[in-house]
Amino acid sequence: MVASRTPLMAGNWKMNFNHLQAIAFVQKLAWTLKDVKHDFDDVEVAVFPPFTDIRSVQTITQADNLDVAYGAQDLSEHDSGAYTGDISGDFIATLGARYVLVGHSERRTIHGEGDDVCRAKVNAALRHGLVPVLCVGESLEEREATSNPAEVSIAQLKAGLADVKPGTDIVIAYEPVWAIGTGKVATAEQAQEVCAALRVALAEQLGDETAAATRILYGGSVKPDNVASIMREPDIDGALVGGASLSIEDFSSIIRYRS
Ligand code: PGA
Repeated sequence: MVASRTPLMAGNWKMNFNHLQAIAFVQKLAWTLKDVKHDFDDVEVAVFPPFTDIRSVQTITQADNLDVAYGAQDLSEHDSGAYTGDISGDFIATLGARYVLVGHSERRTIHGEGDDVCRAKVNAALRHGLVPVLCVGESLEEREATSNPAEVSIAQLKAGLADVKPGTDIVIAYEPVWAIGTGKVATAEQAQEVCAALRVALAEQLGDETAAATRILYGGSVKPDNVASIMREPDIDGALVGGASLSIEDFSSIIRYRS
C-alpha cells in the first residue's frame, strides 16, 4: 500500500528579508495563493525566515489566519544558558513555529556542524515539540568518489536520527551540495534514486511504518520549470527551495506544481 504523505513546499529564505520585508512577502504570498486555493489544497506551505523575522511572521499569519506554516533555519542544541548568540528550541516553539531546519549544508560547511551536532539539534527540536527537517546530501567530490550516490546522505541520516524513536514526526531534505544555489538541479531520476535509498535507511532505523509516513523533500535549484518532474517521483514528497522562494511568482508556481 502506498502511504499518503502531504506534499510540503518549504521556502528557505537563508539570510534574506528583514522583518518588514518578511511581513510584506508573507502577506503577498497568502493573497496570491488564495486566488488559486483549489489547485493546491492538499499542499502544505512553509517558510523559514531568519530568527529576527519569526515574531512578525507569527503575528501576520495569526492576524490574517493564513495557511502558511513557518520554522527556523537553525536552533541551539542547548535549552538555555551561557551560549551567546544562540537560539533555543523553546524560543522558536513559543513563537508558534512548527519546523526547524537541522544540518543545512551551509551550517555543516560554514559553521562546521558535524553529525554529532546535528544529532543533538534533532533531539533539541524534538524536546520542544518542533519537527526537525534534517538536511542531508553529498558534495561533488563525495559523489564522484563513490559508486553509491546515497552513501553520504544515508550516513548523515543515520547519525542525525540516532536517538529518534519510531513514530516520531520528522522531515528529511535531500540536498546535493553541488545543486544548491548553482542552477545545477539533480535530474528527477538522480533525486529519486537517493530519496528511495533514504526511505530504505529510514525503514531500517525506524521501521516500515515510520518510513512510509515520513516526508522526504528534494532541495537544490528547484524552480517552477523543474518542480513538476521532481514531484512525479514516488519517494519525493516536496521541495526545500532557496533562491526561488524569494520570488512570489516563482514560489507560488512551485506550490502549484500540478497546474
Ligand atoms: P537553492 O537552495 O534552491 O537556492 O538551490 C536550496 C537550499 O539551500 O535549501
